[in-house]
Amino acid sequence: MEEKLIFEYSKPGKQGASLPCRDLSMDELHRFIPDGLKRKTDTALPEVSEPEVIRHFFRLSQKNFCVDTHFYPLGSCTMKYSPKVNEDLAALSGFTQVHPSMQPEHVQGILTVMYELEQYLCSLTGMKRFSFQPAAGAHAELTGMMLVKAYHDARGEARRSKVIVPDSSHGTNPASAAVYGYRIVEVKSNNRGRVNVDELKAIVDEECACLMLTNPNTLGLFEDDILEIADIVHQKGGLLYYDGANLNALMGLFRPADMGFDIIHLNLHKTFSTPHGGGGPGAGPLGVTNTLVDYLPIPLVEKVKDRYVLNSSLPKTIGKVKTFYGNVGVLIKAYCYIRSLGIDGLRRATEDAIINANYIKSKIKDSYSIPYEGYCMHEFVASAQNFKNYNVHAGDIGKRLLDYGFHAPTVSFPLIVPEALMIEPTETETKETLDAFVEALKKIADESRQNPDIVKNAPHLLERGRCDEVHAARFPNVCWK
Ligand SMILES: *Cc1c(COP(=O)(O)O)cnc(C)c1O
Repeated sequence: MEEKLIFEYSKPGKQGASLPCRDLSMDELHRFIPDGLKRKTDTALPEVSEPEVIRHFFRLSQKNFCVDTHFYPLGSCTMKYSPKVNEDLAALSGFTQVHPSMQPEHVQGILTVMYELEQYLCSLTGMKRFSFQPAAGAHAELTGMMLVKAYHDARGEARRSKVIVPDSSHGTNPASAAVYGYRIVEVKSNNRGRVNVDELKAIVDEECACLMLTNPNTLGLFEDDILEIADIVHQKGGLLYYDGANLNALMGLFRPADMGFDIIHLNLHKTFSTPHGGGGPGAGPLGVTNTLVDYLPIPLVEKVKDRYVLNSSLPKTIGKVKTFYGNVGVLIKAYCYIRSLGIDGLRRATEDAIINANYIKSKIKDSYSIPYEGYCMHEFVASAQNFKNYNVHAGDIGKRLLDYGFHAPTVSFPLIVPEALMIEPTETETKETLDAFVEALKKIADESRQNPDIVKNAPHLLERGRCDEVHAARFPNVCWK
């Protein structure tokens, strides 16, 4: 009932805001707008008072399960707490009031931030240069594939048509490569959950453009054969692309360049203090080793004497993949985050993320099956397959967790684990939270055997029960009318 009423506050003539006084009257203003661009009818905006607007959106926000209200162990997504102070810093008017068309001479401050952020990311990853253009991880992967192709084409090896991905890979990897026209070849994981090196050897040949890998992989396991893997691909002339969305597991511990990767992306909106999950702006900086710098998107920020300039004259650039310079607000937050933690703080964050994941893993191993033994990195995958006899699936356990006040882990992914529950606690949670989560998981395991219906029909305590998630994602209804 309430839901219906909420959207019926609007009444013609109700005022929500008073506009500031103008020097020009409406008629005078209209003279500046070309006739073709003038509105013929009023916009269909709701007419409501300011308190109604505030209450409406505040009430909606309280119905949301988010990282600021609940523990959110969504594997692969790194839903960690992002310090609010970085939002404040990125919102300083010196940053928000600059326009991308302003002359570099007049925006030296923001160029300093971009220049220094690039240096930090280079030292953290071992890469030579970064482009800040890509707006997210998948966008960076696509850009990376454009670089791979430009590189091979320039060497007269346009025939290289296949991109290899492990069967544990994140779905965006094969998707990005396929969208750019590459043929996807899958390499199987071995019984340790790592790339099967013998199979890889058989697949890699002179047709191979690139191997895409995330390390640790989506099982949360470190690819300990990575140096041999890199050798196999490089010897046949292929490149290695590192999906660095999982960098929260590596900061200050390992550098992708030292593992043999040629191109990498980072998800600033996972690891470096930009909250995400609601479709807000992200940033997927793309880093490359020396060999590939000339192909990067333009412009790059450079320092000439003591001034910062924009360099758009890279000899073999693939051009632009986004307007202007990327999502600069996200870059500022990452810069502030890195400056405030320092390299020691970043390493500590990673170590804590790894310890937290291993803690939960060891605590639940008697209640859930854990397909891959041994230590994990920042996340791990459990399986709900021992509840199949009760007709309880991983997704049901995720829904039941909501009743206990926890967001669901990633379910049914990676695909190689049946009934997967992929848990990434991150470094920002207290031991009390981790313990409470473990208790909830154990209780749900008991419920699944003793009273499976309560799990299968969950959630019971939320505003909404089970929705048609596919329909909601494909046809979102975000209109007020
Ligand atoms: C999140 C993620 C991506 C995709 O990043 P987006 O910014 O969502 O496009 C790619 N790979 C891995 C391993 C991820 O976790």
